[in-house]
Amino acid sequence: MQYRSGQAFDIAEITRLGHAAGAVVGFDLAHAAGNLPLRLHDDGPDFAVWCHYKYLNGGPGAVGGCFVHARHARTDRPRCAGWWGHDEATRFRMGPHFQPTPGADGWQLSNPPILGLAPLRGSLELFDRVGMDALRAKSRSLTGYLETLIDQRLAGTLAIATPRDPAQRGAQLSLRVLEGRGLRGREAGRSLFESLAAQGVLGDWREPDVIRISPAPMYNSHGDVLRFVRATEAWREGRA
Ligand SMILES: *Cc1c(COP(=O)(O)O)cnc(C)c1O
Repeated sequence: MQYRSGQAFDIAEITRLGHAAGAVVGFDLAHAAGNLPLRLHDDGPDFAVWCHYKYLNGGPGAVGGCFVHARHARTDRPRCAGWWGHDEATRFRMGPHFQPTPGADGWQLSNPPILGLAPLRGSLELFDRVGMDALRAKSRSLTGYLETLIDQRLAGTLAIATPRDPAQRGAQLSLRVLEGRGLRGREAGRSLFESLAAQGVLGDWREPDVIRISPAPMYNSHGDVLRFVRATEAWREGRA
């Protein structure tokens, strides 16, 4: 998932091409984790990393996550060996040689921050209970609704920079502000972004001129999407 455009890429195909060229293939899934259903083992990348503070609600500073493909579970490639990655059975013998725990656990440097993991535990339990397929179905509906409303009501104001094909995106639409209130481009974008925040609609600003809006299916509703559109109309018409 490209963070600025919101474009989702085909992990299996990129992995296939990368491996065919002799490359090690890894993915930054910061914007994919908790947003799109992922099948990392079957798609076959060598590794992936992500943070937990976007869709997965871990809070700022939350611990990150990593995937290491099972084919590397017992690799002796060089690594930053930390005592918490040492095999649990012999970890406390404190021997002179590093024996990695098989799998991704063998890359842990030190023990994880328990207080930082607590909100993640609560959040991941919810994700397990709802299931990624149900979340993705609601996400497609929310983002499709957002797209439809923008096309119908905000066509001269906002341009959608994210792919129109739902298979090539997740929750996010990246929006360029064309014009409004006599402003154009970046100036219009900043003005709208600040007005949205003042109206309680929180998106994200990326320089030079992109507003990212991501209805999160775990807790956003279709009513929230409509609220964003109405807030943008209020800005355009000088009411907010
Ligand atoms: C948020 C984000 C990350 C996560 O970085 P941290 O160091 O965990 O804060 C990585 N890559 C992209 C593209 C991101 O948007």
